[in-house]
Amino acid sequence: MSMTQITPDHAHVAVLAFPFGCHPWPLLNLACKLAWATPHVRFSFFNTSKSNQRLFSTSQVDLPDNLKAYDVADGVPNGHVFTPGNPIEELELFIKAAPESFGKAMDMAVAELGRNISCLLTDAFMVCACEMAQNMHVKWVPFWVPAPYCLSAHIYTDIIHKTYANACGNGNGGVVGGLKPIDNTLDVIPGLSTMRFCDLPDEVLQGDSNSSLFSQTLYRMSKVLPQASAIVMNSFQEINSNIITNDLKSKFQDVFYVGFLTLTLPPPPLPPSHSDTTGCLPWLDKQKPTSVAYISFGTVAAVPPNEFVALAEALEASGVPFLWSLRDNFKQILPNGFLQRTSLQGKIVPWAPQSHVLAHSAVGVYVTHCGYNSVFESIVGEVPMICRPILGDNMMNGRMVEAVWGIGVRVEGGVFTKNGMLKSLELVLRHEQGRRMREKIKELKEVVVKAAGSNGFASKDFKTLVEAISK
Ligand code: UDP
Repeated sequence: MSMTQITPDHAHVAVLAFPFGCHPWPLLNLACKLAWATPHVRFSFFNTSKSNQRLFSTSQVDLPDNLKAYDVADGVPNGHVFTPGNPIEELELFIKAAPESFGKAMDMAVAELGRNISCLLTDAFMVCACEMAQNMHVKWVPFWVPAPYCLSAHIYTDIIHKTYANACGNGNGGVVGGLKPIDNTLDVIPGLSTMRFCDLPDEVLQGDSNSSLFSQTLYRMSKVLPQASAIVMNSFQEINSNIITNDLKSKFQDVFYVGFLTLTLPPPPLPPSHSDTTGCLPWLDKQKPTSVAYISFGTVAAVPPNEFVALAEALEASGVPFLWSLRDNFKQILPNGFLQRTSLQGKIVPWAPQSHVLAHSAVGVYVTHCGYNSVFESIVGEVPMICRPILGDNMMNGRMVEAVWGIGVRVEGGVFTKNGMLKSLELVLRHEQGRRMREKIKELKEVVVKAAGSNGFASKDFKTLVEAISK
């Protein structure tokens, strides 16, 4: 693509989404926020058609006139049959095809608009964007969707491997005082001393050797991110440790904390086009304050079937009213007759307006996989959590919830059992410990609310980002 001299009136930001899990939502929200703030800049949002369909049917944003969404090819060959039980396959086909699919779609948008691309704003997982931006002689501004402490884990992958290998190689399988190396704390990484090796995403622990294309891509990401013009954080600086922030700022050209992109404080009313079609909110209106358990494991994570049954049995035995966001394909795993027997006690829906649900006064506990967005929606809703981390960043988030912020409890033994879950429900909903969690979560929410105000870092960093991408 040839580059002409770009003036603000010519700026055209290509936004490249990573179409898995919750990743496209905060990126779309960021792009919309930037587009509203810079009416003279054009934004082209590129994402696979499957992800775009899902995004636009569930997103609550109003699309600005200067932002247009484009579908890109997903890399899945025609007639391809997926191997059952290998969710990573779709992701890897996408990664392989991404440079070509996004390249073609960008060419189309440039031709349609008559404006060359002046900046690539991409999900940080879109590692190919680094080279694309270099070839196009434009800025690359990656957006880091998970928590900043996860970025630390990624950029220190080499040190993590070395330390872990040393710990394992002490001749005794690394066991010291009954603790396995996987339980050791990550003291060696600035700001991560409360985390343990077992909290790290698999992709970080596996690293580059003999690993999946996805792990290799994330490893490459940790190497190329320092070349980016700036990294944008889906977080507030105020809730992160200064050690981590200072360390990240020393590693990258610029770090902008623009706040949580999936949260608006207070949550706006649901727009009519995305109304609560499953009737969650009216159902909650009929329940007592702080009485309901809301259950959701996000958009990708799957709880093993035996644990799933234990969770259902515990809910039924507890008598606690529950609202369960449960993808339809999981319903068949529920115990026989569960749906009929609990039809008055609970409500099961395929999709809930989650941030509104968690902000409802009837919800008393959130049973969660500790997805990053979910955790912060819970904090803003002042709802303590029962944590069953499953994959990716879930374990690190769960450690923060329980050990650092004290606003939730990890389910006994780390997996759902009927008795363990009954105890956790009792603890959070009825015990003094649950009351203390509620107090702590209120304090944390206050920090978030203040950080989101006009004097917070997010407001200043957003303005700097606007200037950076408009040039
Ligand atoms: N979500 C929702 N309704 C549901 C289930 C999930 O709105 O029924 C939203 C939830 O509010 C959150 C996102 O999906 O914003 C899930 O993101 P998270 O980072 O928690 O988990 P992931 O899906 O990436 O594992």
